[in-house]
Amino acid sequence: MPYLDHNATSPLRPEARSAMERAFDIHGNASATHASGRAARALIEEARHEVANLANARPEEVTFTSGGTEANALALWGAVQGAADAGAPIERLFVSAIEHDSVLNTAASIFHRIPGIRRADIPATRTGLVEFDALRQLLGKGGERVFVAVMAANNETGVIQPFADVAKLVRDAGGLCLIDAVQACGKVATDFAVLDADYLTLSAHKLGGPQGIGALVTKKSAPVAAQILGGSQERGRRAGTENLLGIAGFGAAARAAGNRDDSRLVALRDRFETGLRRRFPNTVVFGKDAKRLGNTSYFALPGIPAETAVIALDLDGVMVSSGAACSSGKARPSHVLKAMGVPADLTASALRVSLGWNSTESDVDAALISLEKLSGRITARRVA
Ligand code: PLP
Repeated sequence: MPYLDHNATSPLRPEARSAMERAFDIHGNASATHASGRAARALIEEARHEVANLANARPEEVTFTSGGTEANALALWGAVQGAADAGAPIERLFVSAIEHDSVLNTAASIFHRIPGIRRADIPATRTGLVEFDALRQLLGKGGERVFVAVMAANNETGVIQPFADVAKLVRDAGGLCLIDAVQACGKVATDFAVLDADYLTLSAHKLGGPQGIGALVTKKSAPVAAQILGGSQERGRRAGTENLLGIAGFGAAARAAGNRDDSRLVALRDRFETGLRRRFPNTVVFGKDAKRLGNTSYFALPGIPAETAVIALDLDGVMVSSGAACSSGKARPSHVLKAMGVPADLTASALRVSLGWNSTESDVDAALISLEKLSGRITARRVA
């Protein structure tokens, strides 16, 4: 079945599946000193090495978490509390308007609970980029200890952000910087060793690893107050017996995703977008004027509601997603498109096709055929 929703979750790679199957046979707790415990420890450290390699970080900079959401929460709360504990509290928190909800909602809870921290929103341009100049101006005023959160690539549009420049700007301003690389890592270079960022977040299931495992990568100098307390796992940054199976799968997926040559995906994406324009000359492709991840196409076919399209494609066996965030069964229009100034009627038609390691030409062709059929039905209904 054509699965075109890799930005939501990429199917498990065979390499990750085999690594997890092997991990089933390790019975020990990685904190135990006996042979089985040591085997579990060795597996975790091997996987940590692979994940570190993917981000060009050092293994000791990697803390395993339950996913990208927890990694972002640990970076934000860990920095806020850690900096306060060290006597240098964060005074202002900058968050871009196009961040993932895990960053936006964690930041909202920080503003709610710690009124002393001032809020600053970084707007987005019409092309889907964070407004670098606005951030520069705000930071230029100086005098405050700041924390800035900007993603490396957006999950909806795929637009690659100027994250290295942002990190440098923040470093020069003496602040702390979080780069959410959940969508970017493995697709564009997120070289932690040369990046001026203090925190980088990753998630296995966007790379073809299992769901429910991710990592926070931190510079040695960055404050990180643990949010889950208990044992001394993960260097005291995240207590709890490690998710051995998840970590094994994450390590294998990180190794397999290491080759960042995206020319195959770019060719597939171009085939899809060319096919769209040929069939629907009024197609709007969001973020097309910016540099995008090679795997992502976010578009609207004016007059075709996204929810209708998602259901119609699903009935044809083609899986894509709409631009609406769905929580507790309610669809909410995309905050990313809103920040880009896209009108509400176009937002209501926003669809995302995201490709990955097992996508093929016949997958994208199936999506095109299904959309064409749907459009034909809608036109026929209007005429009748
Ligand atoms: N950050 C970004 C940019 C994402 O796209 C996602 C997931 O969609 C997350 C964070 C959250 O990651 P996870 O699903 O592993 O919690």
